[in-house]
Amino acid sequence: MPELPEVETTRRGLEPHARRRRIVKVSLYERRLRWPVAARLASSVKGQLLKRVGRRAKYLLLELEAGTLLLHLGMSGNLRVVPAQAPRRTHDHFDLVLDSGKALRFNDPRRFGSLIYTRGDPLAHPLLARLAPEPFDAAFDAAYLHRVTRRRRVAIKQLLMNSQLVVGVGNIYASEALFRARIAPRRQARTLTHAEAARLVRAVRAVLAQAIRSGGTTLRDYLGADGAPGYFRQRLYVYERAGEPCRRCGTAVRAITQGQRSTYYCPHCQR
Ligand SMILES: [Zn+2]
Repeated sequence: MPELPEVETTRRGLEPHARRRRIVKVSLYERRLRWPVAARLASSVKGQLLKRVGRRAKYLLLELEAGTLLLHLGMSGNLRVVPAQAPRRTHDHFDLVLDSGKALRFNDPRRFGSLIYTRGDPLAHPLLARLAPEPFDAAFDAAYLHRVTRRRRVAIKQLLMNSQLVVGVGNIYASEALFRARIAPRRQARTLTHAEAARLVRAVRAVLAQAIRSGGTTLRDYLGADGAPGYFRQRLYVYERAGEPCRRCGTAVRAITQGQRSTYYCPHCQR
């Protein structure tokens, strides 16, 4: 599943191709995505200048002159830059054809992605208005994390993945960030000290920034986001390394299940 770093990698790869380009046509091949694509979306969007490509959580925000396209990659989606004439492949669901002769082409086998056009402030759209802070926002700091964990008995690993606390920390990144912060994944969230909250904020940012940087190096005319970040895997400390020696202390990495997701940690380094 595309996680925040893959979506950000897609955004960065898309931006130079999309910025200041006009959308000359929208070709919609399959309207049945997670929510049906509005029938009038194509006529609303056609002819508009694409001003910039932004992101909020895992939504790409294609900012147009009169509104914004909110695009979510879902479980299996990707958005590629292709020549507009390139033959369609299975599961290609729409093209945003640009005045450069290229198209932004959306492919999504499972069709959990979505495409919505909104004329108002995109951040006030019901899908985005209530999202928690971005991990790189100033609002996500030690004081915030310490405050919102005070009465939570839930394990810190699970809380970290809760998008009502902070957006974009998926399963891989949660395990990796807790390792870097030296915090055991099963600790009750409310037991975190202020210093630990500060370490965890730094670790979350470092892990995501590294993933984004790694993704950025693979860019060419397209843009990542196939859900298999193999490039990132080589640098992982604990994720999918059960039984292998901890890269810091040599103790065997352990795997447990929390909330039906696998968690990896070092029982010596993380307390
Ligand atoms: Zn260790």
